[in-house]
Amino acid sequence: MPMPPQPGEESSDPRRRIPRTDHLLAHPDIAGAAQTLSERVVIGIVHATQDRARTGEITPEQVQGEVLSALGDRRATSSRPVLNATGVIVHTNLGRAPLSDAARTALQDAAGYTDVEFDLVTGARSRRGAGARAALLAACPEAEDALVVNNGAAALLLALTALAGTGEVVLSRGELIEIGAGFRLPDLITSTGASLREVGTTNRTHLADYTGALGAATGCVLRIHTSNYRVIGFTSEVGLSELAGPCREAGIPLIADLGSGLLAPEPHLPGEPDAATALREGAELVIASGDKLLGGPQAGILLGRAPVIARLARHPLARAVRADKLTLAALEATLTGPVPPVLAVLRQDPDAQRARTERLAGLLGGRVLAHEGRVGGGGGAEVPLPGWALALEPELAAPLRIGDPAVVATVRDGDCLLDLRCVPVSEDERLVRAVTTARAVLAQTPR
Ligand SMILES: *Cc1c(COP(=O)(O)O)cnc(C)c1O
Repeated sequence: MPMPPQPGEESSDPRRRIPRTDHLLAHPDIAGAAQTLSERVVIGIVHATQDRARTGEITPEQVQGEVLSALGDRRATSSRPVLNATGVIVHTNLGRAPLSDAARTALQDAAGYTDVEFDLVTGARSRRGAGARAALLAACPEAEDALVVNNGAAALLLALTALAGTGEVVLSRGELIEIGAGFRLPDLITSTGASLREVGTTNRTHLADYTGALGAATGCVLRIHTSNYRVIGFTSEVGLSELAGPCREAGIPLIADLGSGLLAPEPHLPGEPDAATALREGAELVIASGDKLLGGPQAGILLGRAPVIARLARHPLARAVRADKLTLAALEATLTGPVPPVLAVLRQDPDAQRARTERLAGLLGGRVLAHEGRVGGGGGAEVPLPGWALALEPELAAPLRIGDPAVVATVRDGDCLLDLRCVPVSEDERLVRAVTTARAVLAQTPR
């Protein structure tokens, strides 16, 4: 409905016909569409649209319709759900682990007031995140106690600050790793005020290298899982079980940073370390991420001997890196609910993936190729995961990314590869529609 002309309007200047802000805001359609947004955002959209009419880009009569369509496109959050068709299970750029339904429900339930630090029976304050702690101890009985912090890096920061102080962190040269995007663990370690005591060489480190470094200045011994690469060939490393004795005798904490987050051995990833085994072998403390192979929310998980965890929990830094109520709720539900998507996808039958891919090829054309998936930054470095991909025309990748749903594929050797491994089966029809839409967009785009 066009706005009536304002009093005193001069028909000679069309800008006089631009609808006023208060009139636009009072319009029922606009007021309705504006309900999911803040007043500031709505007024910003209105002003921007009026400006377009002032410059002549649109006519005054188009303002109302343009405001409505801009409001319809605007969501309260800019983050968008993505169909991950890359075949990389733990994709850091795509938010790592997709949460299980149980964890999603837990997030919702914890979003309001919740008993995260309160005992409803006694009415007294309680230990924060007691449910997540209990779930971790149930899933990893080898641990005497557990603590959850913001992420794996924060867990390492807390552990080194509390246990090593300004002492030396004894670490093999084969484990001085960069995790991703310039994040280097040695830099994190020295940022705590501790100093690095590198031992051994890149490919070989022996027990004597460690024991020779232990002394009055030692703060702790750290083993880091080289989660994103493997050293092969003439190599040797020292097992936790060999290190445990000398560390215990010297009264030095032995810490294992596992990264990946497996709490127990996973038969599909035989080379991947797990918390239960590391603790059994003698680590006093293990550190893992919540959103890698554990399949939960971003979190840093500390498991170990009761006095060590108590020391960490008491340290002032623990408050600075503490986990959010949403994280604690989702982590507990990940551990207590059914197998989370990350592990389900890892254990998926390649034949089932092939059948899905062939069905899509029947609908969309393209070739079905053998395509290896990957565990991703989360671990399983260089472990190939056999599977399949649908190869389509490469120009589709860009419109697929900005479509609805957004689909992230891989372009390789002149093909746009869609790997269905990490796409939920329930999304197959939407994926087909996304490809059809992307092709229609391409057909309309002048070359
Ligand atoms: C991923 C990783 C980290 C960092 O964990 P975030 O949860 O990403 O902070 C630390 N150490 C290792 C070995 C890792 O693989």
